[in-house]
Amino acid sequence: MMSDATPGLHTLAVHAGLAPDPATGALQTPIYQTTSFVFKDADHAARLFNLEEVGYIYSRLTNPTVSALQTRLAALEGGAGAVATSSGHAAQLLALFPLLEPGLNFVVSNKLYGGSANQFSQAFKRFGWEARFVDFEQPGAIEAALDDKSRAIFCESLANPGGVVTDLKAVAKIAEAHRIPLVVDNTLATPVLCRPIEHGATIVVHSTTKFITGNGTTIGGIVVDSGKFDWAGSGKFPALSEPSPSYHGLTFHPTLGAMAYTFYGIAIGLRDLGVSLSPQNAFLTMLGSETLPLRVAKHSSNALAVAEWLEKRPEVEWVSYAGLESSPYRARSEEYLKGSGGSVFTFGLKGGYEAGKKFVNSLKLFSLVANLGDSRSLVAHPASTTHRQMTPEARAAAGAGDEVIRLSIGLEDVADVFADLEQALKAATA
Ligand SMILES: *Cc1c(COP(=O)(O)O)cnc(C)c1O
Repeated sequence: MMSDATPGLHTLAVHAGLAPDPATGALQTPIYQTTSFVFKDADHAARLFNLEEVGYIYSRLTNPTVSALQTRLAALEGGAGAVATSSGHAAQLLALFPLLEPGLNFVVSNKLYGGSANQFSQAFKRFGWEARFVDFEQPGAIEAALDDKSRAIFCESLANPGGVVTDLKAVAKIAEAHRIPLVVDNTLATPVLCRPIEHGATIVVHSTTKFITGNGTTIGGIVVDSGKFDWAGSGKFPALSEPSPSYHGLTFHPTLGAMAYTFYGIAIGLRDLGVSLSPQNAFLTMLGSETLPLRVAKHSSNALAVAEWLEKRPEVEWVSYAGLESSPYRARSEEYLKGSGGSVFTFGLKGGYEAGKKFVNSLKLFSLVANLGDSRSLVAHPASTTHRQMTPEARAAAGAGDEVIRLSIGLEDVADVFADLEQALKAATA
C-alpha cells in the first residue's frame, strides 16, 4: 500500500485502486463477473439503498472491478471521485446529465472530436440541451455565447484531430465567473501530459477506449470530478442541490460534500441511464492503465520525431503538431502539455484528394482505421472516409480538407515508422 506522500504518476498507475482480494489474497484486481451482491440481511440492504453505507448492490450501479478502475483514474487525474461508463460518449452523457434540463444550454468549443459534435448537436438537441459551438480562440466568443440558461462550458484540452491546445486557465476563469463548471475531454492529452483539474477544470471526461486502455481492445469512458465545485452555492443545479424526489428526498450537495457529483452519477446517472462499464472491460482498462505513463512518453517522443521528419519532406505542405517549434501552440504546449503535442496530429499532403487516398492505401505498418491511441500506428484520411458526405467547403471548415491526413503514432521503433511513411509518400506523389 502507498504512503501518505502524494505518489508520482508511475506509482499511481500501478497501485491506485488496487485492492487485493480479501477472500484469496489475489494481488491483481479480480474480475467480479457478477450482476448482484448478497446482502447480510434486510437492514443491511436498506442502509445500502439509502446511501447510509457504501457497498455493492447490483453491477449496473457498482462493482468492485469497476470501482478499482474508478479509484485509479480519479487518482491519476487528481480528482475526488470518478464514474466509469460503457464508452467515451456515455461519459459525456453522464457528465452533463446532472447539469442540464430541457431549455438549458452549454457552450462548447468548435474544435471537437467529430463524434462529440454529432452527439451534442443532434442527439442532445432532442433532449432539449442546446450546444452552442463557438471558436474558443476568439476573444469574447465564449462570454458572448453564455447567458442565464448556460450550465457548462465544454472543450478538449488537446483538441482532436490534433495540434490545437486549449487555454484552459482562461476558459476556467470564465466558467468560474459564471458559477458553472468547466468540463474537459482529456482523451488526447491523458493525465500524463495534462491534468485539467490543476488548471481549473471542474470535471474531466475520457474515452478510455484510447490511450488509457491503450491497446485497441476495449470501449469505455470515465467521468472524473474535482470535488471542488460549490453546486449548492451556485444555485443553478437543483438536481444536485435540492431534495431528490427519486432518491428518498436526499440532497446530494452539500450533504455528500466532495463526492456529491460522483454519487449522483452512480445513484441516479448509472441507475437510470444504464451506461455502465462491464467488469471484464474494467479489468482490461485497469491492465492497460498500468503502463499509461510509460506508453505516453514513448508515443510522444515518436510523434515529435515523426512531425519533425514530415516537416522537412517536399511532399508535405504543412504539419499541425503542438510540440513543433513552428507551431502557434508551442507556448501552450509548454504551459499545459509538458512541452509535448501528444501523438495524434494532422498534416497536409500535396496533391489533394487522390494523393491522400493513394498515401493511406500505400502504408503497410499503419492501419487505416477509425480509432486512435492504439499501441500501433494508425492513419485516417477524413475526406475519403468520416467526412465524405460533406461538400469540399464544409470539409475544409471542419479541418478535414482533401489534403488532410491524421496520424496516431504508435509504440513501434521510429525508424520503421519513417520507412513506411517514406515509401507511401513516394507512392502517393509519383
Ligand atoms: C473517441 C473519442 C470520444 C468518444 O469515445 P468512445 O469511447 O468512442 O465513445 C470522445 N472524445 C474524444 C476526444 C475521442 O477521441
